[in-house]
Amino acid sequence: VAGNRVDGGQTIVADPGRAVGALARMAEIVGPAHAIADSDRQLPYLRELRGLYAGSAALVLRPGSTREVAQILAVAHEAGIGIVPQGGNTGLVGGQTPSPDGRQVVLSLSRLNSVREVDAAGETMIVEAGVTLAAAQAAAERAERLFPLSLPSEGSCQIGGVLATNAGGVGVLAYGNARALTLGLEVVTADGQVWDGLRTLKKDNTGYDLRDLFVGSEGTLGIITAAALKLFPRPAEKVVALAALPDIASVAALFRLAEARGHAGLTAFEFMSRFTLDLVSKHIPNTRLPLREPAPWYVLIELSSAEPGGLAEATMQRLLTEAADNGIVSDAVIAASLAQSQALWRLRETASEAQRPEGGSVKHDVSVPVARIPDFLAAASKAVDAACPGARPVVFGHFGDGNVHYNVTQPVGMDKAAYLALWGPMSEAVHDVVASLGGSISAEHGIGQMKRGELLRFKSPLEIALMRKIKAALDPKGILNPGKVL
Ligand code: FAD
Ligand code: ZN
Repeated sequence: VAGNRVDGGQTIVADPGRAVGALARMAEIVGPAHAIADSDRQLPYLRELRGLYAGSAALVLRPGSTREVAQILAVAHEAGIGIVPQGGNTGLVGGQTPSPDGRQVVLSLSRLNSVREVDAAGETMIVEAGVTLAAAQAAAERAERLFPLSLPSEGSCQIGGVLATNAGGVGVLAYGNARALTLGLEVVTADGQVWDGLRTLKKDNTGYDLRDLFVGSEGTLGIITAAALKLFPRPAEKVVALAALPDIASVAALFRLAEARGHAGLTAFEFMSRFTLDLVSKHIPNTRLPLREPAPWYVLIELSSAEPGGLAEATMQRLLTEAADNGIVSDAVIAASLAQSQALWRLRETASEAQRPEGGSVKHDVSVPVARIPDFLAAASKAVDAACPGARPVVFGHFGDGNVHYNVTQPVGMDKAAYLALWGPMSEAVHDVVASLGGSISAEHGIGQMKRGELLRFKSPLEIALMRKIKAALDPKGILNPGKVL
């Protein structure tokens, strides 16, 4: 379509009549049961769960096969219609939400939900984009293998969305993020061709790595329809402990000690501030701090061992005793049962949810070099207080990855909307601190709509120009998730 362009995040279709014809053809491809035009039925696809982003759509399509996805993309490409891929709709940066102008089409991948193959001996599996993360983990489990990616949203988020955002979570320390766990992909290109890159090779140095380019591209370069994923042996034993620490320097010291004593068996090292756990105890039912005294910081440590016989537990005992002797840890508890392990994990996993009853929260998902976390926290706290005196940082995250979820809850009694109006200046101030320490403004959630402007502030003009060239080469008409990332 002449005049089709990407402008301010919206695909502009020059010829509305032609667009209507194209929409009808797309609806035909999936059949009437799976083309949703009714606005009430569209609603779950148009807004994300926190209500931060909402849009509208010309159509919501639920294709049932890679072939249907390819046919839809061919029509969209020809007519210049923006396509917004969507998985479990759990993304936190507005990447899966269509624009408000009602011209874009939401493409839900949730019906592509087959596990195509699990190769236990080769430690790989091939799953379709709409398989939930929990279902992918269960498929691995049935073959007595481990798919180690783990997020609090795993019951809803889907492999396509997880890969498109290069999700992280609590297993990254030992097993890597989504990209590190991806061996191959099947991708539908902007013009409706199917790239079969479903290789299960552990080594493959044959030219530019398209797989790594599509992973983390947030639906802006291609539609992921299936993935070949890496599996691992299941640990024979896991042990979880919660430790209380007097200051953030002790958290850093405990991490170094846990790495030294736990080696590859250190499968999680999550930290939480006292205020974070106060909110969890206050707002989440059936949570209780299993320690004698409150402390400024808490760490959840998980050690795994490949062999049975109590090795992980013995290592944990020694580690915590040594830490206590060194004054790094003031108190600790080791879970004695699966139920106790789950209860400790619940304290960490409900940290986000626990902020909601306190009003507005300005969220930062940032990373800095691990050793700079204490510097980051000191400087960010000053920056936040300058932006909004009385605002309350809720600090937690994946310490071992240098990934801090630096969420800032509104001051007590402040109007929520007035507080959220400070989102821009506050996050700019926090991101400036991140940049001064050589960090990243998005550790694991992506850019989406939320951080598009900030991306331009922190990437060099050359890096942005190279990204734009890649986008133009793979999606010359700008129909793939317009207005996201770039
Ligand atoms: P969606 O939200 O549907 O989409 C996310 C992005 O991917 C969008 O840009 C969308 O256009 C694109 N996309 C979706 N499917 C495809 C596809 N098939 N092909 C191409 N592009 C596609 N994230 C973490 O990294 N770590 C965490 O610990 C974590 N915890 C979370 C906890 C909660 C309670 C919630 C709500 C979210 C959390 N997230 C976390 C964020 C989110 O769950 C992850 O980003 C997840 O990977 C998104 O998957 P989804 O299927 O819901 O994707
Ligand atoms: Zn996280």
